[in-house]
Amino acid sequence: MKKTVLVAGGAGYIGSHMVALLAERDYHVIVADNLCTGHREAVKGAGKLYVGDIRDRAFLDRVFGENQIDGVINFAACSLVGESVQDPLKYYGNNVAGAQSILTAMKDYGVKKMVFSSTAATYGEPEKQPIEEGDRTDPTNPYGATKLAVEGMLKWCDRAYGIHYAALRYFNAAGSNPEAGIGEDHDPESHLIPLVMKTALGQREHIGIFGEDYPTRDGTCIRDYIHVRDLAEAHLLALEHLEKTGESGIFNLGSGTGYSVREIIETARKVTGKEIPAKVEPRRGGDPSILIASNQKAAAVLGWTPKRGLGEIVADAWTWHSGHPNGYGG
Ligand code: UDP
Repeated sequence: MKKTVLVAGGAGYIGSHMVALLAERDYHVIVADNLCTGHREAVKGAGKLYVGDIRDRAFLDRVFGENQIDGVINFAACSLVGESVQDPLKYYGNNVAGAQSILTAMKDYGVKKMVFSSTAATYGEPEKQPIEEGDRTDPTNPYGATKLAVEGMLKWCDRAYGIHYAALRYFNAAGSNPEAGIGEDHDPESHLIPLVMKTALGQREHIGIFGEDYPTRDGTCIRDYIHVRDLAEAHLLALEHLEKTGESGIFNLGSGTGYSVREIIETARKVTGKEIPAKVEPRRGGDPSILIASNQKAAAVLGWTPKRGLGEIVADAWTWHSGHPNGYGG
């Protein structure tokens, strides 16, 4: 019999890629999403889309009551760092209370596996590079703090209720799934690669480079970009690992390689054949100079290694943005 997986936040950017992969691998997929930032059109291959808020217990009773759920993958969260600083309670509400609500339903309905969407922002300013899972976690914004709080909640729920979990700390997700026709559509958009794509399309006059006086090879910040399809594959491996071993864990999901802002823009110029004007602007507050993942633990325990490099990430981002200049709006 097909396994049933609940993807909370499955209409969002990473969640929708997860849904497409699960459907491709013959899972029965149920999506719960309040469509605040997600898109109905992004949900491809799900058995059912439940529209509602994960903090609404009556809504969760419907989702868990009508389906025999084997495992939950939780992407339902707010993820804008700047907004989290302005409105931390929104983040504690959506991200922490949201996770608590789903875990309570899991406990009540006897669902024992959760793959949780965490973030490299749990580390804050890193002690060293590449960053390992055991390194200090000291988030510098409420977004990272709420994700770290949920990791703590998961640890105690594992001990008390036997809900096993994998918390996956993403580095910089990018790219798209051209075959499924899904990609990144945030409003407002704040991430580098989609903004570079919009500049290539002529929707923006230039891309701002936020600071060129960092202690890096060309003075611009270095990040670890990971293809969204590789991310989705890691979630599936994590779910299978929980199924097989029942061993909970925290894993970095990154490529292990860093690229500077200038290198991203240069790659995008090659891939798109467009000029992509760039202008140096002041630093953005709170940006560490370098964030690179060690992905050794995910390789050793989950058997995950990313298959797609920067060229494919940018090429797939370009396929999505050039084919959908207004995102899911047409
Ligand atoms: N960045 C930039 N210009 C932009 C957006 C981002 O120079 O218009 C830089 C940002 O300072 C960071 C990197 O690009 O060093 C990646 O930023 P993004 O917001 O995509 O992801 P983050 O690393 O903040 O999660």
